[in-house]
Amino acid sequence: MSSNDWKPSSWRNKPAAQDVVYPNHQHLNKVLSKIRSLPPLVTPAEIERLRNQLSLVERNEAFLLHAGDCAESFDACTHENISAKIGLILSFSLILIWGARLPIVRIGRIAGQYAKPRSSATEKIAGREVLSFRGDNVNGLDPDDRTPDPERLLSAYFHSTTTLNHIRALLTSNFASLHHPRSWSLSHVRSPALKAEFERITEGLSDALGFTRTIGFWQESTPYERGGGRGALGEVDFYTSHEGLMLEYEEALTRKFPLPESLLPPRRASDAHYNTSAHFLWIGDRTRQLDGAHVEYFRGIRNPIGIKVGPSMQGEELVRLLDIVNADKESGRVTLITRYGAGKIENFLAAHIVAVQKSGHPVIWICDPMHGNTLTSSSGLKTRNFGTIISELTSCIRIHSENNSRLGGVSLEFTGELNDEGFSVTECVGGSMELSEEELGLRYQSFCDPRLNFEQSLDVAFLISNYFKK
Ligand code: PEP
Ligand code: MN
Repeated sequence: MSSNDWKPSSWRNKPAAQDVVYPNHQHLNKVLSKIRSLPPLVTPAEIERLRNQLSLVERNEAFLLHAGDCAESFDACTHENISAKIGLILSFSLILIWGARLPIVRIGRIAGQYAKPRSSATEKIAGREVLSFRGDNVNGLDPDDRTPDPERLLSAYFHSTTTLNHIRALLTSNFASLHHPRSWSLSHVRSPALKAEFERITEGLSDALGFTRTIGFWQESTPYERGGGRGALGEVDFYTSHEGLMLEYEEALTRKFPLPESLLPPRRASDAHYNTSAHFLWIGDRTRQLDGAHVEYFRGIRNPIGIKVGPSMQGEELVRLLDIVNADKESGRVTLITRYGAGKIENFLAAHIVAVQKSGHPVIWICDPMHGNTLTSSSGLKTRNFGTIISELTSCIRIHSENNSRLGGVSLEFTGELNDEGFSVTECVGGSMELSEEELGLRYQSFCDPRLNFEQSLDVAFLISNYFKK
């Protein structure tokens, strides 16, 4: 099919991996036509702004932070959860800015990250075989509520809208300003040497912040923030993203808009299709088949996209995929999110870098050190080891520099959530708080993949920041 044949619905002629089977198609169509009539969540101008900023990442002039929950839930759509997540992303990026002396492009896994791919269509719960939980926008976590219900797509639209509205409200109400108090408490850090190292960073950072506040140039116009002191969603730039898994939903929010004047003919047509459900969407590791429905859908949208790249990807396959989704080799369009696992990255990353370099495709490489490193603890809880996460990240940085390439960012699953007593979740083991396997059960709240907690996330930020400073 040539690019001229693309339509928001052309994916329907291709096989869709991870397909959801609805019992009542009339009901599904009624919901989809309602979603088609609802307003866009994000605007083409915001999407174009992100594309431009991703071009800077590609040129090593900015660093990308992609982070949030593995999956959001409708019940977690509260002020506390949203502000904790945005607060952590802002703190994390502040530490990176300080260390890397580079602007940070922030993309949250937020305001629409509901659907989950599963390795098996069914699962056994209490001796009973039931359909797998596919995310709040498809079915319920309760084993008695596993039949896919189209009304959940509508609910996903409204929960995404509410979340985004709250993010916009926070970011236009001084939440991100330097006057917002930040917790740099390092009381959780057990190792004295690490504590001293982190203290050096927070002292340097606090000094820099005080200085910046005094002379007041925080939001002055730099090449990166051209257009003045306002970001995409408020005081700072912040963008939303989710895995583009539920193609019916994505199609219903795909809208045609005029392209910015700078891109007008003779180079290209005057309109483009924007997915207005999020600024950035990614193709998961289980749905990236070259002749599949997801790749077909993604190749036609104007948004910047991510592609998960795992150990099962062949170098030649990766290049063919890039040829399909970025035929014109446009800058800022594709981010490759590598997720091999700490024990496998040595065998795969260098060959992928070389294959892409030979093809001449411009890409941003970011490291997802989470998804290749999931294991089951002795108590049966899914977990990840902090040391293994750092090991994949440091190998990734090294392999890029050995191959004349550069790591452009990180993709993390983390949460800033605290319970009523102010304690963080306990889902990943290790980190400066040295969380043990026995402690996992204390506050394990994820119903999907295990996330780094507040302290462990800042550990990662300090380590990356330190790396850049050296
Ligand atoms: C995810 O990002 O939550 C995910 C499922 O990743 P992957 O497709 O890389 O397994
Ligand atoms: Mn995940």
